[in-house]
Amino acid sequence: MTPSGATARAWRRDLHRHPEVGFTEFRTASLVAARLAELGWEVTAGHAALDSAARLGVPDDDVLARAYDRAGADGGDARWLEALRGGHTGVVATLRGAAPGPTVALRADIDALPIHESNDPTHVPARDGHRSRYDGAMHACGHDGHVGMAVELAERLGAAPPPAGTVRLVFQPAEEGGRGAAAMVPAGVVDDVDVLLAAHLGIGLASGTVAASVDGLLANTKLRATFHGRSAHAAMAPHEGRSALLAAAAAVLAVHAVAPFPGHETRTAVGAVHGGTSSNIVPDRAEMLLETRADDGEVNAEIEARVRRALEGAAATYDATVTVERIGAVTTARADEAAADVVRRAAAATGLEVVVPTAELGVASDDATALMRRVQTRGGVATYLAIGSDLPGAHHTSTFDLDEAVLGPGVDLLEHAVRAALTGSPRRPAGPGRAAP
Ligand SMILES: [Zn+2]
Ligand SMILES: [Zn+2]
Repeated sequence: MTPSGATARAWRRDLHRHPEVGFTEFRTASLVAARLAELGWEVTAGHAALDSAARLGVPDDDVLARAYDRAGADGGDARWLEALRGGHTGVVATLRGAAPGPTVALRADIDALPIHESNDPTHVPARDGHRSRYDGAMHACGHDGHVGMAVELAERLGAAPPPAGTVRLVFQPAEEGGRGAAAMVPAGVVDDVDVLLAAHLGIGLASGTVAASVDGLLANTKLRATFHGRSAHAAMAPHEGRSALLAAAAAVLAVHAVAPFPGHETRTAVGAVHGGTSSNIVPDRAEMLLETRADDGEVNAEIEARVRRALEGAAATYDATVTVERIGAVTTARADEAAADVVRRAAAATGLEVVVPTAELGVASDDATALMRRVQTRGGVATYLAIGSDLPGAHHTSTFDLDEAVLGPGVDLLEHAVRAALTGSPRRPAGPGRAAP
């Protein structure tokens, strides 16, 4: 028998070497689908696992095609790749017990980030040979560990299936940017789920600890603003030009100057600006990527409205125009006590220390909230839990790394929680039930 955590670590390292950003997870998803089918799970992938039209922020066709080809050339599983073509990189696996019973689901997000990984010899993946082989992409949030733990969980459950009930593993693409969950909800992948667990490694908790629920995840909106101006010779006819880049530059300051809301956690941020082609041409086009966040959906909507006015005002100042496209959106959700309690009891059984997350953890977002809300509106219960991991570098930085020693205990925790939820069925008593979606 392989030691606890060995499969999770091997998968984690392989995926860490081959990080794929949102909707390009062709290699990752094909390998997961192939392995779970091999383990006896019913597997669906591609259009059956997500609603194509409901995806937000899908990369351009040529980006998707290049990533697809790379996956084929780099060990992706040819039996599953075709189903994923075009950025349909969701995978759903189901294991049914002999007798009927509740359905318990685990969400694992699978995407990497557009970050260039550190090559410093003190960075463990660089030192030990599992640093990213894809320049400009990196598993800098720990989703490689999420997939690794879910695959090991699938092995264990496949080898000793629960006597009753159904287990579902939801491998979700494009969590970063809040783009993938919204596409899996309309595909119905959690519609019959009684208990949903969404787990994240790290997020400020020490190795050996678990938070049974993390409330206060922020709602957010990701926008792409494209400024349109008019090009002109920068010296001979600057007065005939309309600088899209100047408009964008003014907009950066205006977006960051949107007022905070007392009593709420709020954020605005511009993360990228690109524009212009040469020093002697008034730039006629500039593109900006930005986001808003708040701990309340309505406050976030108000901040988004103010940000949009700021973009339009800056454009008008320079006689330019702006088009704004929503490329990601994440809502808020609250954990159900019944689901959190399953995690607390599983932590006690596996020797992990249960901690209550501090307010600082609430400043992130995760689109698992869309799946949680879907489960909750159909009468099930859900929680977003955190499995602690000491981190040498923060999430979303080039020196991020997981403490791999937490992977085995993490799988133990998830296995206990899933098996307990199958027998305990902590379905919310006052829920509207499945008849009222
Ligand atoms: Zn992240
Ligand atoms: Zn993450």
